[in-house]
Amino acid sequence: MSTNAKRRKMRVLFASSEAVPFAKTGGLGDVAGSLPRALKHAGAKAAVILPKYSTIPQEYQDRMKHVADFYVPLAWRNDYCGIEKLTLQGLDFYFVDNESYFKRDSLYGYFDDGERFAFFAKAVCEAIARVPELECDVLHCNDWQTALCPVFLREFYREVPACNNVKCVFTVHNVKFQGQYGDKMLQDVLGVDDIPAARDQLRCDADSINFMKGALCYSDWLTTVSPSYACELQMPFFGEGLDGIFRRRSNILSGILNGIDQGIWNPATDSMVPRNFSPKDMSGKAECKRALQEELGLAQDPTRPLVVSIGRLTNQKGLGLVRYAMDGLMARGVQVAVLGTGDADQEEAFSYFSNKYGNQMCARIAFDNALSHRMYAGGDLLLMPSEFEPCGLSQMIAMRYGTLPVVRETGGLRDSVQPYNKFTGEGTGFSFANMNADEMADTLLGACEIFWTDQKAWSQLQQQAMAADFSWRRAANDYMDIYHRLHPEIIRYNKRRDR
Ligand code: ADP
Repeated sequence: MSTNAKRRKMRVLFASSEAVPFAKTGGLGDVAGSLPRALKHAGAKAAVILPKYSTIPQEYQDRMKHVADFYVPLAWRNDYCGIEKLTLQGLDFYFVDNESYFKRDSLYGYFDDGERFAFFAKAVCEAIARVPELECDVLHCNDWQTALCPVFLREFYREVPACNNVKCVFTVHNVKFQGQYGDKMLQDVLGVDDIPAARDQLRCDADSINFMKGALCYSDWLTTVSPSYACELQMPFFGEGLDGIFRRRSNILSGILNGIDQGIWNPATDSMVPRNFSPKDMSGKAECKRALQEELGLAQDPTRPLVVSIGRLTNQKGLGLVRYAMDGLMARGVQVAVLGTGDADQEEAFSYFSNKYGNQMCARIAFDNALSHRMYAGGDLLLMPSEFEPCGLSQMIAMRYGTLPVVRETGGLRDSVQPYNKFTGEGTGFSFANMNADEMADTLLGACEIFWTDQKAWSQLQQQAMAADFSWRRAANDYMDIYHRLHPEIIRYNKRRDR
C-alpha cells in the first residue's frame, strides 16, 4: 500500500459475531447492523463480516453469492472456509461459512465456542489476505468473539502485503464476556504456544487464557460504547479483572455512545405497532397502550401507568431490585410487563409474579422482536435498573416512542438519560444512584405520580425524550476520527468533517 498521502475512502471491515437483520442476541447485533451504514455516510468504504449461522433467515441465505473459498489453518487443523456475500440496502455483508462450526441451533452456548470463534477470527484474517474486495485499512473488531483477530493479524499475517498496514480497533460492548478458556488452547487451537508475546499477553492466570485480554493488548485503539463506561472499565468493580489493562492503555481508550437505527425505531412509520404516532400527534400512543394491555391480558385502563422491561433476564440488568420491589409496586396499582429470556431463576421469578398478579403483571419469557416494538410503543415507562450498563439501547428506543425511562445512573444509562428536573421541567426520563430497591421504587413511583397528577409535565417530558438525537451520525464521525488518527496518510474523504 502506498504511504503517500492521498484523499480516498477509508476502508473499514467490521468484524462481529452478530448483525441485524441476520443474527442478534443483544445490542451488539443492533450496532453491527447500523454503525457500518453510518460509517458509509460519514465517508468510509465499510463492510461487515460475520459467521454464516444456519439460523440466518432462509430468504437471506438464498440471496448470498459465493465469493471465495480456502482452508484456514488453526494449529494442527486446516478447516474449510467459504466466503459468501450479500448486499443489503447498499451495504456489503460477508459471511464465513463452515457448517461444522456454525450450523447450530443458536449463536452461542456450545462446549467449543472458544474454538468456533478462534476459527472465525482466523478466517477473517485469512479472508483479508486472500480476497481482494476484503482488503481494508481498519479492521474493527467487537467483543471477545472477534478478539483474536488483532492477535492473529500481528503474529501470523504481518508479512502479507494486504495485512501489514491494517490497523485494529477493538470495541468492548460488555466486559463481562471475555472468552476465557483453558491454556491448552494456546497449542491445540490457537497455535501460538511458541510465540512468547502472544502466549504471555493472552494468559490471564496459571492455567487460563483470555481472548479479550489479547485484543486489549494487541489492538491499535480501544473503544467502548459510552464515555461513562470507559471510565468505569478502569475501576476494579466494573473492570472484571481487566481494569489494570484499561488503565495502562487509557491513552488509546475512547468512549463513544452508541446510536440506534432511527429508521427501524420510528413510531411514525413503524409497521409493527397497531397505530403510528409522532411528537406532533400522540393520539396513537393511547391506542398502542390499550392494544398492548389487551394482548398481554392486563386491565385495559388508561389511568394505570404501564411499566415495561425489555431485555436479557440476567443479574446485570438489576432484576433483583425489581423482584424485591414488585409487591410494593403492585400494591400501588402500577402495571408491569416484562419481555425477556435469560437465567432460569429470573425467568421463574417473573413467571411467578405473572401468575400471582393476573391482570396487573405479565411476563413473556421469549425473544420476540415484534412484541418488543409493541411494548416500546405501548408502555408509559421503561424500567432499566442495571447494575452496570455499557451503553444500553432499550432506554434510547423507549425515548423514541415517548416511553420514559427509569434508569440507574451507570454507564450509558447515565450518558443517555437526562433526569427530570421538577424546577425547570428539563429531562428525558428518571434516574436513581444506588443499587437499592427502595430507591428504585421511590423513583419509579415518583414518575407515576407525575403521570397521575401532572399531564402537562408528563407530555413535555415525552416531547423532550422523543426529540433526543440518538442517530448514528455523531458516533460514526467519532469513529472516523479514530480511524484517521491511525492512518494519517489517508486524507479524509468527507471534506465537511476535515479537521
Ligand atoms: P444488551 O446488549 O445488554 O442485551 P441492550 O439494551 O444494549 O442490551 O440491547 C438489547 C437489544 O435487544 C434491544 O434492541 C432490545 O430491544 C433487544 N431485546 C432484548 N431482549 C429482547 C427480547 N426478549 N425480545 C425482543 N428484543 C429483545
